[in-house]
Amino acid sequence: MRHCSQLAITMIAHDDARLLDSTDMLEWFESTISLTGRPAAFLDRDGVLNEHIANGYVLEPGDFRWLAGARETVLRLQQAGYAIIIITNQSCINRGLLEPQMFGSIMSDMVAAFAAIGVVCAGWVCCPHRPDEGCLCRKPGSAMLERASAMTGIAATCSVLFGDSPSDIEAARRFGVRGIAVERNSPRAFAAAVDHVVGRAV
Ligand SMILES: [Mg+2]
Ligand SMILES: [Zn+2]
Repeated sequence: MRHCSQLAITMIAHDDARLLDSTDMLEWFESTISLTGRPAAFLDRDGVLNEHIANGYVLEPGDFRWLAGARETVLRLQQAGYAIIIITNQSCINRGLLEPQMFGSIMSDMVAAFAAIGVVCAGWVCCPHRPDEGCLCRKPGSAMLERASAMTGIAATCSVLFGDSPSDIEAARRFGVRGIAVERNSPRAFAAAVDHVVGRAV
């Protein structure tokens, strides 16, 4: 079992109903599994699972390049009891560079690639906004985490977030879960971070 007693969990009271209003977020949740009370591993996408493209975006399926071994690392998180939920900023959508439908297709491919090795992706949430739109969901905002939690019933306590940007870690802090910084585009760093979390550090 994981040991989470040492974690400083700060639960934040959210009175703002807008935080749970998903009308501006893109999302998908696997409906056939119950996540109630389970901890989640919230994963940033670009730079953790697939190659973060410097000064660019994943705009078509061919732009989505898995980092070597990243899926297997996620499998280890699942085997340790974490529900797998992807949390991603994609301002390219509201910049007009990527249609939501194409984004959804790329994510469907991602979910299928996970499934091929036995990883059940429990869901994903995406902020499509540009920074200047001032939304609540774009990381470092925590509204995507709020939404995922509300939709799945996962327990924030003992949940973790892996990300390669300071905004990921700040979103985790605001939501009240442990944020773990992972070196960008380094599947080895991701694997080491997961080893540490699941208690199999070598
Ligand atoms: Mg990233
Ligand atoms: Zn947003």
